[in-house]
Amino acid sequence: MSADPDCLFCKIVAGEIPAEVVSETETTVAFRDVNPQAPTHVLVVPKQHLVDAAQVAAADAGLLATLVAEAASVAASDGYRLVFNTGAEGGQVVFHAHLHVLSGRQMTWPPG
Ligand code: 5GP
Ligand code: ZN
Repeated sequence: MSADPDCLFCKIVAGEIPAEVVSETETTVAFRDVNPQAPTHVLVVPKQHLVDAAQVAAADAGLLATLVAEAASVAASDGYRLVFNTGAEGGQVVFHAHLHVLSGRQMTWPPG
């Protein structure tokens, strides 16, 4: 399993940095965002170091499907928002793919 020694989320996957893990599969980990933007704000990440959603899709389409299925199971409500910030202009700060799961309040649009 490939990991980047300088990557924050690889360190969370490896248990080297603590996080509140809410769900885990063979290939993914879901943990609470440290700066939540909604009552439920979970990040679902591949265990493998892949930088963004497109790279996940290219590497393993089934892995992308697992991320979405995990997101639905941790959302804890019927309505929720899934976000892949991608690239600096897309608001991505951590360059290890992560699917934001936001729920527990009415979402607004546009997201800003
Ligand atoms: P991005 O802007 O890259 O889409 O989102 C990165 C997310 O990671 C942000 O929502 C931020 O709050 C979260 N985050 C950054 N550092 C940590 C950390 O050390 N632990 C946890 N649980 N979340 C983090
Ligand atoms: Zn990583």
